[in-house]
Parts: sequence; C-alpha cells; structure tokens
Amino acid sequence: PSRNSVTIIGLGPMGQAMARTYLSHGHEVTLWNRTAGKADELVEQGAVRAVTIKEALNANELVILSLTDYDAMYAILENAADILAGKVFVNLSSDTPENARKAAKWLAGHGAMHLTGGVQVPPSGIGKPESFTFYSGPIEVFEAHKEVLEVLTSTDYRGEDPGLAALYYQIGMDMFWTGMLSYLHAVAVGQANGITAEQLKPHAISTMSSLPEFIEFYTPRIDAGEYPGDVDRLAMGAASVEHIVHTTHDAGVDASLPEAVLQIFKRGMANGREGDSFTSLIETFRKSAA
Ligand code: NDP
Repeated sequence: PSRNSVTIIGLGPMGQAMARTYLSHGHEVTLWNRTAGKADELVEQGAVRAVTIKEALNANELVILSLTDYDAMYAILENAADILAGKVFVNLSSDTPENARKAAKWLAGHGAMHLTGGVQVPPSGIGKPESFTFYSGPIEVFEAHKEVLEVLTSTDYRGEDPGLAALYYQIGMDMFWTGMLSYLHAVAVGQANGITAEQLKPHAISTMSSLPEFIEFYTPRIDAGEYPGDVDRLAMGAASVEHIVHTTHDAGVDASLPEAVLQIFKRGMANGREGDSFTSLIETFRKSAA
C-alpha cells in the first residue's frame, strides 16, 4: 500500500462521502461494510471491495472507522483481534469521551493505535477545507497522518487524551440540539399564529446571530466566577421566560421546552440568585451534577 492508501470501514452517508472524496483525490481506497451492497457504487468508481474484515485491515496501515458508535467497532474488530497490531485506527464515529478512552486502551492492548475524531460537518461538508474535525490521541500518530486526514476536512488537534475530541464534539452537539430545538419551538409558535418559517427566517437568523456577542461579553465573567446583576438580573430573565410559556400556551403549542427553562430559572432564584445575572445558572447546573 502507498502512503496515500486508506481503508474505510463503515459506509453510512458519512463513510460514503469520505470514500468518494479520497477517490476523487486519487487515493487508493479499500472498503468494508457490514451491508456489502453499500460499496457497489464506490467500487464502480475505483474503490477496492474487501470481502472480509481481515482483507480490509491487511490492505492498509491506516484504517478509518465511520460507524454508528463504538459498540459497532467492537462488533467488527473483535473478529480480527489477532491482526490489529501495528494498525492506526482513526475513529470518526461519534460517542462519549469515556468510550473513546476505553477504545484507545482496548486497541493499545492489541498493539494498535487510535486517534479519536469528531467530525463537525454533515456528509456534504466532507472534502471541503472550510470544514473541520476535532482530533485527539498520540501527537506523533496525528502528525504522521495529518496530511491524509486533511483530504477530508481541516483538522483541529485537541490533545493527547483520547477523550478530548469526543468531548469537544459532544459539547458542540449539546449547543446544537438545544439551540435548534429552541428554533423549532419558536417556529411552532409562529405557525400557530399564521406565520411561516420563511417569514420568520430573517428574525431567527438575526436572533441566533446575536448570540456570539453575548458569549464574548459573558465569557471572562464566567471564568472569573462573577455573575453581577449590572446588565441583566435572573428575576428579569425568569419573568421573560414566564411570558414565553404563556405565549406558547395561548398559541396551543407544547410548552415543555420553555417550561423546563423556567424551572431552571426558578431553581436559581431559590438559590438566592434573583439579583445576579442569569449566567449564575451555571452554578445551578453544577449543583445538579453534584
Ligand atoms: P450511519 O449510522 O448511517 O452509518 C453507520 C455505519 O455503521 C454503517 O456502515 C453501518 O453498517 C455500520 N454499523 C452500525 N452498527 C454496526 C454493527 N453492529 N456492526 C457492523 N457495522 C455496523 O452513520 P453516518 O454515516 O451518518 O455517520 C457515521 C458516524 O459519523 C456516526 O457516528 C455519526 O454520529 C457521525 N457523524 C455523522 C454526521 C452526519 O451528518 N451524518 C455528522 C457528524 C458526525 P450497515 O450499513 O451494515 O448498517
């Protein structure tokens, strides 16, 4: 195998986009997928189909995993545990930081190396330099394969701890899902009042685009553990969220999302924070974890 050849295991929409991208850059690509038929089109485009997982592993040192989760990795690799030694697994399946650490340990126990990846774009973003992926794991392994990985997306190396890429990925998803649900909820309230998603679009974009300014403003205060009520007060925020809950009820729309938000504001108030900023709610979150 040349230094430009890779094995890809897992051909969901992501793995397929990755295989297509490598092929279009002239790389040799060996594929294996549980459902073999998903490789057909790529084989027509020049990829090599491995009939067995062992064939796939023997083809290259560098093996990219694009699976639903880390359990799928074990399901596949446990049958080939005797030939894992010396392989470099770049795991682009998303899962928890803890599972990434366990996988790195499990592979190390078989003499193989593991880089954790957290892809930040949908399949359509693969092959574009403005896209990026978090990586973590041994720095020398990352450096050795960086160039090949950058065919897929730009890279953002987070550190040696194999959990880090997964952690940054999950933190991003934490913001993404809650943020997008807040958008969907707002659209439902709009629709119940005869306003279409299209009509709301400029307002939705303008509201979401105002968030970076708030993040910039509050970040140093949060890191300093300071939540002064000089620009906003938790009690004001709670009243505002209460209005949203009522507006939602009046629209006949499910209010469980703003009600959950209101409950968190109320817990902050019960902790005596009504005169502080709503950012003091971070302490309420911390208390729940304890
Ligand atoms: P899919 O879930 O569609 O693809 C899953 C792949 O895993 C398939 O090849 C499937 O095989 C295989 N698989 C699952 N379970 C097993 C198992 N027990 N044994 C063998 N193979 C198994 O995911 P995507 O392609 O969409 O994504 C891949 C990863 O990338 C996921 O972890 C996802 O979270 C992450 N990701 C996806 C993004 C997206 O927009 N799609 C964005 C960012 C990250 P089979 O074909 O046989 O079912």
